[in-house]
Amino acid sequence: MQLNILVLPGDGIGPEVTAQAVRVLEQVARKWNHTVNLKEGLLGGVAIHRRGVPMPPETEALAHECDATLLGAVGLPEFDHVAPQRRPERGLLGIRKTLGVYANLRPVRSYQALLDSSPLKNHLVDGADLIIVRELNGGIYYGTPRGIEGAGPAERGFNTMVYTRAEIQRVLRMAFNLARNRRKKLTSVDKSNVLETSQLWRKVAGEVAAEYPDVELEHLLVDNCAMQLILRPKQFDVVVMENMFGDILSDEGAVIAGSIGMLPSASLGDRKPSGAYVGLYEPVHGSAPDIAGQGKANPLGAIGSVAAMLEYSFGLLEEARAVYAAIEAVLNSGRVTADLKPAGPPATTAEVGAAVCAAI
Ligand code: NAD
Repeated sequence: MQLNILVLPGDGIGPEVTAQAVRVLEQVARKWNHTVNLKEGLLGGVAIHRRGVPMPPETEALAHECDATLLGAVGLPEFDHVAPQRRPERGLLGIRKTLGVYANLRPVRSYQALLDSSPLKNHLVDGADLIIVRELNGGIYYGTPRGIEGAGPAERGFNTMVYTRAEIQRVLRMAFNLARNRRKKLTSVDKSNVLETSQLWRKVAGEVAAEYPDVELEHLLVDNCAMQLILRPKQFDVVVMENMFGDILSDEGAVIAGSIGMLPSASLGDRKPSGAYVGLYEPVHGSAPDIAGQGKANPLGAIGSVAAMLEYSFGLLEEARAVYAAIEAVLNSGRVTADLKPAGPPATTAEVGAAVCAAI
């Protein structure tokens, strides 16, 4: 198979973890006789430095040309105080929007070898296996009007949270389809006791549920969900929510998995005629400027994102399973990066990448 992939290394630890993810992809290609055609593009702070904007037009064009996009992370401290539209993170919103990826899947599972890396008690996390589905293309991050206006005590900042029925339906269907192929339980998260967008969300979720009689649907308020994810993570199978709730709650997955560096993500849009999803794959973590350039970054979230790419964009299930198994083998070997608190000296980013390749 020809795998035409755009790589956007981005900022901070992004280039370090994507280098290892690409290495794993090339190992898979060698073993199963696929051809990887890589293109590299600019996104984020590095794009602002070289091209003056967080998402240059050529990056957008490449993303549409390729079958799938692998992203590292964006964000640099030097841009912390500039206006949102000139920040590296705007590139992230731009690439998600241009690809039309509206469902962000964040699988969270506890690995035996990492039970002690979680601050939660072992019996709470042992066996946890859930997918958080975050709506990615709408809600308050994109809604207008938005801005800061006026002056003095009346100066005000405002954003708009807005969802259409169609936007809610398509992400709910994605979540129901995932649940149908897993343990058949879907939790829909909202704030319907306060927000009109959530009232519509809950109503539409109930309607879509009629198409999936084999899947159990439950509704949970977002504040309660924040607590339940920590108290009893094993009760969840697939959990779906709007954009900002998902952004916030999915970081709790790091507490369950043991480190944010472990978490992969897949952002999916509609299916192509081939049946494969349009996909953008990236680790959940940010650019981690505090450890950038030191070989300390855990590449397993980025490598897991490659596994998700093989599964969703290329339908290569055997290859994807081999990557997941290799990740588990490396965790069991104990040669892991410092964030996973190994018993011995921590492995470097590149050593972990090499170990995953060897296990494949
Ligand atoms: P972060 O995820 O970059 O880092 C949070 C903490 O986790 C840090 O202590 C970091 O060292 C650690 N960490 C993160 N990834 C790790 C890995 N792979 N291995 C080991 N440790 C890891 O979040 P932050 O510090 O809030 O944000 C830093 C920058 O990243 C900001 O500019 C932010 O806007 C940006 N950001 C980007 C994305 C993205 O590109 N998708 C996501 C979140 C934050």
